[in-house]
Amino acid sequence: MREESKRPGSLTLTNHGELELFFIGCGSAFSRTMNQTNLLVVKGEQHLLIDCGTKLPQALHELHIEPAAIENFLVTHSHADHIGGLEEMMMVNRYLTGRRPNIIITEEYEAILWEHSLRGGSAYSELRDGKPLAFSDFWRVIRPTRVAGLERETWQTRLGELDIKMPRTKHFPDNATSWHDSFWSCGVLLDERVLFTSDTRFDPELLHEFDTRYGVEIIFHDCQFHTGGVHASLAELSQLPARLKQKIVLMHYSDDWQRYVEQARAAGFHSLVKQHHSYTFD
Ligand SMILES: [Zn+2]
Ligand SMILES: [Zn+2]
Repeated sequence: MREESKRPGSLTLTNHGELELFFIGCGSAFSRTMNQTNLLVVKGEQHLLIDCGTKLPQALHELHIEPAAIENFLVTHSHADHIGGLEEMMMVNRYLTGRRPNIIITEEYEAILWEHSLRGGSAYSELRDGKPLAFSDFWRVIRPTRVAGLERETWQTRLGELDIKMPRTKHFPDNATSWHDSFWSCGVLLDERVLFTSDTRFDPELLHEFDTRYGVEIIFHDCQFHTGGVHASLAELSQLPARLKQKIVLMHYSDDWQRYVEQARAAGFHSLVKQHHSYTFD
């Protein structure tokens, strides 16, 4: 994995075919100094935006990428730091470009996302034949298929040469016992090489399962510096075996992260993600 800091204007939506992850942000929901956790994946002619928090449209603009340039979306769950920028993206596309971008989404989560979050702000801008707009008026849906042979519900699709798998995760409520009784949330496995957990509580089964089955090279993992609530903590993650910790790059952390860099290094983690850094896999 090659890590590189990128300046505004140097980020592109295509490359020579390598798998590249660019962190537009790597902060928590309440971060004031980072752009939440939003990730742009680029491989060859394809790009994919994973999560679109409230700060994302402005953050993209500051990177000299206009929001309307994003053609492919995937959102991992319905917290505002992951979906709060979607309505703006939908409006920009419907009323400025006239395009419908692609969204990779299961049938179950599409209904949740639309009915619980997006419909109120976007359905009633127009009436067509007396009816408000629907999800499909804004989005071209790419429907993933279920991966067979995995106990954990996991979905799969491709964008060109990019393989995308979406395992369900254990994020919230805070007393859920597994992904089974959690509200809808997922992580993303890219090219069976890189696991991005998005937000999750401590769930060692996910890491063991995917590491054993796919031999993942790097795991970008949610991390908060205190224990409790709906995120994995540094103390909990520190219990993992050394062979897993050395693959884990921590993300989705709070503004005081610099106080914990030494502790994370001493515990055996690979590193902390840096905002505006790209991570490339040849
Ligand atoms: Zn979050
Ligand atoms: Zn969340």
